[in-house]
Amino acid sequence: MGEKAREIVGEKAEEIVEYLNKTLADEWLAYYQYWIGARVARGRMRGQVVAELLEHAGDELRHAEMLVDRIIQLGGTPLLSPKEWFEKTNCGYESPTDPSTEAILRQNIKGERCAIGTYREILKMTKDVDEVTYALVLSILKDEIEHEEDLQSLLDDMAR
Ligand code: FE
Ligand code: FE
Ligand code: MG
Repeated sequence: MGEKAREIVGEKAEEIVEYLNKTLADEWLAYYQYWIGARVARGRMRGQVVAELLEHAGDELRHAEMLVDRIIQLGGTPLLSPKEWFEKTNCGYESPTDPSTEAILRQNIKGERCAIGTYREILKMTKDVDEVTYALVLSILKDEIEHEEDLQSLLDDMAR
């Protein structure tokens, strides 16, 4: 841990780490939900939907990496076991038991909406307290907003 970095954030560091670990759990679950969804998906606009799901899976994995780096900078310990993903998650996990592209899109839209809410909470928590986490979370939030949009426009195209 960087002492100065930790000092700047002060007493709130632990609370921020706890919250970042919860979103780390979310990102891993989102990654897998996209990754496995892309493989089981069947039905309308399959090619396009699969390409989008795989792209988003890659983004969620990158978000997980960004969160881990920041947790370590703050002197925290990132979740070390997948068992903890379900204990800590805010947004949960939806198994793609219905493989239709439409059902999978709906499930992932729900996840993205939850992620947007969670990241907005962290922005409130870190504003004027921890500028580095604030900036990092803002950039992740931009991606999640784009994700929601992308999935919704695919769904809209299906309705045409
Ligand atoms: Fe993400
Ligand atoms: Fe996302
Ligand atoms: Mg996209």
